[in-house]
Amino acid sequence: MTAKVIDGKAIAARVREEVKEEVAEITSEYGMPPGLEVILIGDNPASAIYVRNKGRASEKVGIRSQTHRLPKTVTTEEVLDLIDELNADETVHGLFVQLPVPDQVDEKALQRRISPAKDVDGLNPVNIGLLSLGEDCLVPATPSGIIDMLKREDLPIYGQNVTIVGRSNIVGKPFYMLCVREHATPTICHTRTRDLAAETRRADILVAAVGVPGLIKEDMVKPGAVVVDVGISRVDDPSTERGWRWGGDVAFDEVKEVASAITPVPGGVGPLTIAWLLKNCAKAARRLMSG
Ligand code: NAP
Repeated sequence: MTAKVIDGKAIAARVREEVKEEVAEITSEYGMPPGLEVILIGDNPASAIYVRNKGRASEKVGIRSQTHRLPKTVTTEEVLDLIDELNADETVHGLFVQLPVPDQVDEKALQRRISPAKDVDGLNPVNIGLLSLGEDCLVPATPSGIIDMLKREDLPIYGQNVTIVGRSNIVGKPFYMLCVREHATPTICHTRTRDLAAETRRADILVAAVGVPGLIKEDMVKPGAVVVDVGISRVDDPSTERGWRWGGDVAFDEVKEVASAITPVPGGVGPLTIAWLLKNCAKAARRLMSG
């Protein structure tokens, strides 16, 4: 079997079109576009690229976007003061801190301070709590994007065994909760999982969010499974001009021979994440503006 390669870019383009329409409606109804503010701390080049891409994507759908660049020596208190200011600003509807933050900054304190109504990353404990209760809330973009992608590809989730490798707050854990909501039977794995291959081989849907390039090999995948690769790491590759390429957690060439559908890296989950961040911003704006 050779898997269908899921085109994350094409799905993301459709999602962005929908967001654009929603943003145009919100803007004409309330006389103000949704506003997305990003706090970027320090000079991590990867973070700067992510933030620039998110800003450009926002502008393209009509969301007003602004980045607040803070020096890498900033204190937690100083960032909290900025968050308070943005929480109180009625032209701001979405707000997030680009991760990672420098060691001296208390990331959890920042996430707790962001207003749950503006928390487009879905990392405030209020939103995490609502997600576990199965209630409407802002959900992290990557797991939301994956569920939506599976639905748009007509890949069933209901009743399926789902194995998630990686238990981060931003991907693994919220994806687990969304699977419960969708009536799947999820299992979550991490570095202390006793027999990872046994868990991954049980999966009808296998989601890898680890950050270890090529971790998931062909013999770890049940024939016919759907494989979603969230991981994105720089892999040395002398055959490329720049000497490296992006690599996922899945050994793509071998796993695509056993899976029924698979997401590539790049061009799979990454574009969906940005599209769903915009969707979250439009949702937050609609809720805030409608009072
Ligand atoms: P993370 O915070 O980096 O944590 C990695 C997780 O993988 C941890 O739960 C860790 O287990 C687990 N893990 C590490 N090595 C393992 C191994 N050998 N076997 C089993 N589990 C292992 O996770 P993240 O933030 O979700 O990021 C994961 C990857 O996804 C990264 O490459 C990141 O860049 C990428 N990512 C991509 C997108 C996108 O839009 N495409 C979005 C978010 C993240 P422990 O908890 O036991 O340490």
